[in-house]
Amino acid sequence: MKLRSMEEKISYRLFLMGFLGLIFTAVLCIFVFHKAFTAQAWTGLERQADLVSVGYGLTGDPQQLSAFVSGDLRITLISDDGNVIFESATDQPMENHLSRPEILQAMQSGVGKDIRDSQTMGYETYYYALLLPGGEILRVAQDAETMWSIYDSSIPAIVLSCVALMLAAAVLSSLLTKALVQPVLNMTEDLDHIQDNVPYRELVPFAESIHSDRILRENNEKMRQEFTANVSHELKTPLTSISGYAELIETGIAKPADIPDFARKIHGEATRMIQLVNDILQLSHLDNVSETGSEPVMETVDLLEVAKDCVERQKLNARHAYITLTYMGESALVEGNRQLLDELCQNLCDNAIRYNRPGGKVQLVTTCSRDGHCSLTVADNGIGIPREAQASVFERFYRVDKSRSKATGGTGLGLAIVKHIARIHNARIKLESQVDKGTTITVTFPTAR
Ligand code: ADP
Repeated sequence: MKLRSMEEKISYRLFLMGFLGLIFTAVLCIFVFHKAFTAQAWTGLERQADLVSVGYGLTGDPQQLSAFVSGDLRITLISDDGNVIFESATDQPMENHLSRPEILQAMQSGVGKDIRDSQTMGYETYYYALLLPGGEILRVAQDAETMWSIYDSSIPAIVLSCVALMLAAAVLSSLLTKALVQPVLNMTEDLDHIQDNVPYRELVPFAESIHSDRILRENNEKMRQEFTANVSHELKTPLTSISGYAELIETGIAKPADIPDFARKIHGEATRMIQLVNDILQLSHLDNVSETGSEPVMETVDLLEVAKDCVERQKLNARHAYITLTYMGESALVEGNRQLLDELCQNLCDNAIRYNRPGGKVQLVTTCSRDGHCSLTVADNGIGIPREAQASVFERFYRVDKSRSKATGGTGLGLAIVKHIARIHNARIKLESQVDKGTTITVTFPTAR
């Protein structure tokens, strides 16, 4: 998509506004000027008519009216039947004037006015008629330049000043736009401190979102680096062991009697590595889901079914650790992805067994509150988590007791995966734990639609 220049657009609009303003002012001036001009012409004629009517009233002789003619003032006296008694412009007999608008008006209301084209080009004639006490009508008329002819003569000056004004508008609009846009461009020079460099109030949200986006990116980058360092470290330990044992076998240093034991150790380390790689893959898959917002397939899932299957799968595991594993509760329907919910339950259950003591108990409970929020709780009476570590256990690779985690096949990623799955389901996690008493983790889901 071709992006338009903001500077050009503002500049163009400012210029357009200037241009329209100019046109509007010109039209308004013409209108006002025309009004004033016409009003003045009528007042002049009215005065002349009054003067002539007084003069005529004194003499009563139509021929004496010629004494009042001056300049281009025309005087006409018309009888009440429309015949012209006196006409200052010509001695020739004239047609009946009864049909003239100003005469008709004067006969009806005492005064009549009309404007008609003059015989002289570019002029028009103003007619003012007055009904005299004797019934005759006195009409005075005068030519005046038409509006257009007045403007005709000044057209070059008008065009010139318009062009000059438009040029000034173009230059000014371009300068103003530059002054407006430049501070916005300057903002991008120091993106690290963009919020300290905001020139306009309206840009504050924009700057803030850029700033928080940058912080988020930096944090993500930091987290990625930490994650990579952790992964490398976690992989290096089992690989070093595997390599060490393999070397002992390869060089013949290992006695034949030790080989099965070494092979078991190699197998154990390799299994741990596979588990770690699987967890990393799962986390990166969940990261992808969160970042792209592409929801996994959601369906109605009964948490009681999830708990039941989970107990079924962990039964053997629990028996080996001498743990009693049970589930109870009511049918709890939530909107979710069955596979992910199975994994969430599996991870919680696995931890509850691993961080427990022989003879301990693990119970899975499903409930639904009155407002429709259903939850899955995994409670154990195991070793518990110290208060200060409770906030960190959901972080990647965080372990309270690293050697115990490793010895029991932990990767340090189980609860991070749980947190991710809960987030994808908009579910809340609550952790309650007391050292030596046990841990209860409750995952509460939003109301199913
Ligand atoms: P791991 O693979 O080490 O178990 P997790 O992410 O599942 O990693 O758990 C992180 C840490 O939280 C564990 O190492 C352990 O110290 C602690 N933890 C998790 N669940 C429990 C629990 N039920 N009881 C006691 N400690 C727990």
